[in-house]
Amino acid sequence: MTDKVLISDKISDDGLAVFKNAGIAFDHLPEITQDQIKETIHNYTGWVIRSRSRATADIIERADKLRVIGRAGVGVDNVDTAAATRKGIIVMNTPGGNTTSTAEHTISMMLSLARKIPQAHQSMREGQWDKKSFMGVEMNGKVLGVLGLGRIGQEVVKRMKSFNMQILGYDPFLSVERMQQLGVEPCTVDEICKRADFITVHTPLSPETKDLINETRFKLMKKTARIVNCARGGIINEPALINALKSNQIAGAALDVFVSEPTPADDEFRKLNNCVVTPHIAASTVEAQENVAIQVAEQIVDVIKGGPVRNALNVPSLDPEILPIVGPYMELAEKLGLFISQYRRGRATKLRISYSGTVLDHSTTPITIAAIQGFVKSASDVPVNFVNAGPMLKDRGVELIETKLSESGQYTNLITIEVEQEDGSKNYIAGSLLTRKMPRIVILNDKHFNAVPEGNLIIIENEDVPGIIGAVGTVFGKNAVNIGQMTWGRKTADNTAMTIINIDTEVKEDVLNQLRNLPHIKSVDLVKL
Ligand code: NAD
Repeated sequence: MTDKVLISDKISDDGLAVFKNAGIAFDHLPEITQDQIKETIHNYTGWVIRSRSRATADIIERADKLRVIGRAGVGVDNVDTAAATRKGIIVMNTPGGNTTSTAEHTISMMLSLARKIPQAHQSMREGQWDKKSFMGVEMNGKVLGVLGLGRIGQEVVKRMKSFNMQILGYDPFLSVERMQQLGVEPCTVDEICKRADFITVHTPLSPETKDLINETRFKLMKKTARIVNCARGGIINEPALINALKSNQIAGAALDVFVSEPTPADDEFRKLNNCVVTPHIAASTVEAQENVAIQVAEQIVDVIKGGPVRNALNVPSLDPEILPIVGPYMELAEKLGLFISQYRRGRATKLRISYSGTVLDHSTTPITIAAIQGFVKSASDVPVNFVNAGPMLKDRGVELIETKLSESGQYTNLITIEVEQEDGSKNYIAGSLLTRKMPRIVILNDKHFNAVPEGNLIIIENEDVPGIIGAVGTVFGKNAVNIGQMTWGRKTADNTAMTIINIDTEVKEDVLNQLRNLPHIKSVDLVKL
């Protein structure tokens, strides 16, 4: 039976040419309906989509020949990846195809702000010749602060160096060494806010980056500061930005992305004179569209011809009989990775994942991927897969070390993740499956526990003296925080103790601070799993 690819959204001719040149038949049907896809999907080995078509579970269910679904673009919200995985179908996307376009748009926004080009253009259209209102500023010699130095952030840096700007950067997942190689001075967010003339954000939107730039941080900025967001709406708090622009706390903002899109016709940002807005078009260029079309076509050709699998988002190659056995370890490893990424102190330089006991009866590769997935989860929009996991850590300056140990101590199986930080200090966590359905955190640093890796956890380290539990309980009681479970670990040698508490509700920073202010408390951390 010959292979055939369904292309159910419009893609560029260059993408189609990749299939032609590879001798692979295809149907380019950009108008096809969901019902028609459902009727015909059983004929295809590959399926290319953009954002119009949806790879739903009912279609996937009928896709008996299908081996790969390729999204020309990044987001795969329109693909039921779990259903595809169950059916053994690879789901892939094309990250990076729009990096240059987005970086160039960011720079266009900065220049628009500096020279008020949109406003001047508008006034010309209105028949005026107004030179006075559009006094601009130069970029030359100014300070640029870049928050998030991934693909796009780094491309912005490279280009803005040619404008002779001094560049400050913040990215907790990138080593200082890597930043210096880029010619970026590593700074805190507050330092950037204080010193920068231009600020641009290029992080994913995550609990850590939501409202990264807020009212307090606007107050730190120069009155002449200008800020750009071509990443995700919400990284800059919108009400705080409106206030800062209205009160001339800062000089201007340029936004391509918003918390809620499309924005209403009377949205405040559309009206403010010192604000430049575009409708989420940073990636909308001919080249970016071509890039993703070519990339997805090449990746699908590779899969059909038995070549390498690139940018796969799922792990369908795992034997369906093995998945129920390895799956619970993967789940545990992801939780441990997520835990230690939140519990780490400072930038990570090494991630050491060790296995011992019965977990070694099967391949540990998917478990390592799951652990990395947990570790980088909040740092990237791009899902981790077999192919990009190692490079993704390496890009962040983190070395991955995987070891298999013969000793598992008192546990029948043990997964340990140790993170080494820039100052040489280490944190480690170990987890074990008591039964297939009972994952537990059993070690945190030098102490033993029996903690359920789920929900919100508070980790308290204290001097091992009487009265701590009572004092902690009082703070929780006063603040109506309900304790779900609590587990203790202690080390008599240095007189320290640690408590891991599962709490039923969200807990505010203020409650954590009340705990931190109690006598004999050394540290209080909140970890969300
Ligand atoms: P990337 O994953 O390559 O880079 C993100 C960087 O942010 C990483 O270096 C990561 O370490 C860093 N980061 C993560 N958490 C951070 C934190 N708390 N503080 C500081 N840095 C943090 O992603 P990318 O491809 O460069 O994309 C960057 C952003 O641009 C994403 O939000 C993406 O969704 C967005 N984007 C927007 C458009 C658009 O059309 N406007 C197009 C493409 C990408």
